[in-house]
Amino acid sequence: MLLDKEKIVLSSDNEHKITEIKEILKDLPVEIISKKDVNLSNINVDENLDTLEGNAHLKASAIKDKCAYSVIADDTGLFVNALNGEPGVHSARYAKSHDDVENRKLLIKNLRDEKDRRAYFKTVIVYIDSIGEEHIFEGICKGEITEKEIGNGGFGYDSIFLPKGFNRTFGEMSSDEKNLISHRSEAIKKFKDFLMKKYSDKIIY
Ligand code: IMP
Repeated sequence: MLLDKEKIVLSSDNEHKITEIKEILKDLPVEIISKKDVNLSNINVDENLDTLEGNAHLKASAIKDKCAYSVIADDTGLFVNALNGEPGVHSARYAKSHDDVENRKLLIKNLRDEKDRRAYFKTVIVYIDSIGEEHIFEGICKGEITEKEIGNGGFGYDSIFLPKGFNRTFGEMSSDEKNLISHRSEAIKKFKDFLMKKYSDKIIY
């Protein structure tokens, strides 16, 4: 039985993220709500900083400034070894427009003839609690960039990312399989562990 749920606003309009976070945190005394639920859909931040931490902080604090609830925001990038970490914080708009197909094409083109194809995804979650204390959680998934698209599941760079130790790209995996190893789930699980400690006296098994 769960008591006194803490409402946490997710600073995102992405329904997929809301569902994924709700699923992972479902046993905790927290309720994930959206920007829409607190009438703050109009708050959109210009993610113009050069770190994931900085941009996640901007997204979380923009909402926290306007409501009394706790807030979480995340930011993710794909960091490619041979390109000095690009696209990194610019992953969403690597090909200038916010277009996954164009982003993948450009990355494959920029890695043409490149032997070192190592890359990693990194997710940063910033959580600001109801009294304004900030905590940061990170998740990383290492792998390599394929020479062509393989698989048509997922989104973003999934079909050209082969996670280390696997012989199928994220684009070939089901979302359950991907969630076992992904950068985002690792960060969310660390956040979950933090909340479990915070609420250890309120969770009745
Ligand atoms: P966001 O910070 O979650 O919006 O991620 C920024 C960009 O990184 C997205 O637009 C995608 O292009 C890419 N990205 C983030 N997470 C993933 C993932 O799990 N798979 C593939 N691409 C991703």
